[in-house]
Amino acid sequence: MSSRPRDPNKIPVAVLGATGAVGQRFVQLLAEHPWFELAALAASDRSVGRPFAEAANWVIPGDPPPWVGQMAIRPLEPDLPARIVFSALPSPVAREVEPAFARAGYAVCSNASAFRQAPDVPLLIPEVNAGHIDMIPRQREVEGWAGLIVTSPNCTGTGMVLPLKPLDDAFGLRRVFAVSMQAISGAGYPGVASLDILGNVVPYIRGEEEKIEQEARLLLGSMRDRRRVEADLVVSVQANRVPVLDGHTVCLSLGFDQPPAVERAIEALREFRGSEVVRQLPSAPEHPILVRSEPDRPQPRRDRDAEGGMAVSVGRVRPCPLQHLRLVSVSHNTLRGAASGSVLNAELLVATGYVE
Ligand code: NAP
Repeated sequence: MSSRPRDPNKIPVAVLGATGAVGQRFVQLLAEHPWFELAALAASDRSVGRPFAEAANWVIPGDPPPWVGQMAIRPLEPDLPARIVFSALPSPVAREVEPAFARAGYAVCSNASAFRQAPDVPLLIPEVNAGHIDMIPRQREVEGWAGLIVTSPNCTGTGMVLPLKPLDDAFGLRRVFAVSMQAISGAGYPGVASLDILGNVVPYIRGEEEKIEQEARLLLGSMRDRRRVEADLVVSVQANRVPVLDGHTVCLSLGFDQPPAVERAIEALREFRGSEVVRQLPSAPEHPILVRSEPDRPQPRRDRDAEGGMAVSVGRVRPCPLQHLRLVSVSHNTLRGAASGSVLNAELLVATGYVE
């Protein structure tokens, strides 16, 4: 339990899978959040009962706050002293645990892929498709849950789809060809064996390409009668694991209904902001997309932490002889692509009244 006195003005929250690569990012962000109070940490039986500092192999620079380090890990049972639970569980575990929490009345903000493509579960990037949150009343009707589940996309998909959104709105996106270079922290802890990845590139990440392709169509889809209609978009992804610690890079070639001049595409990217409601959320970056003009940017080591790891850095915007436009995006996979993105989803739930 936390040794800190509770703040009655904050919403108590818990992290499921708190000891892993994404769970630790949640702990880091929620330890000092203006709306949320970290009230419980849960993980596998391996960790239950141990202090967080001992159970988690902390991979973030610095140390967790001492009061968090002392919190005892609890089982993944829906009896935690929280209203919102952030899930950083492996997908097969999430498939069992997340509905149990939703049934018991918790708002579940998930990073796992288990329910991302379920017909009544919103898959959210607030700046891109905040309106999809209105799938929740139907979700509650269909499932009979007192709580709810919302999901965050695959970490590579987040950094890819954010820059696609303003380009789709302005010029009608039709075809996407993407090649990813994904950091090793994307595989969790301990992740890829060092002997496999050091000095190497692995051109295969199981299930990743299919997830990114389908999630892009869902994220850029529209809403009709409280149901999501997926976008009519052809997406081809080739996913690679590279020896980078944090930060996913995606090289994109894009085809449009109305092919834009490079200057107009850059303008659309630069001017992009979320809706007024989203811009007011505490974790929202001022600029969700930062356009770099240097010929050798963005780079993961230099650009992943832009705006606290919440901005996607885009560069090398230029004509494409294959389709219409080429560009490169870099985003922080465990922040914007996971924990911070999920915290932003939870803030949106509060701002829209789905969590009181
Ligand atoms: P991870 O480092 O392997 O952490 C997994 C967490 O789940 C740990 O807290 C672990 O607890 C717990 N866990 C593992 N097996 C369990 C079991 N059988 N029963 C109960 N709990 C179990 O993984 P991660 O990278 O943080 O990823 C977590 C989730 O987020 C995954 O679904 C992943 O696909 C998704 N995601 C990851 C990223 C990324 O960049 N890493 C980005 C977006 C989404 P113990 O320590 O007690 O074993």
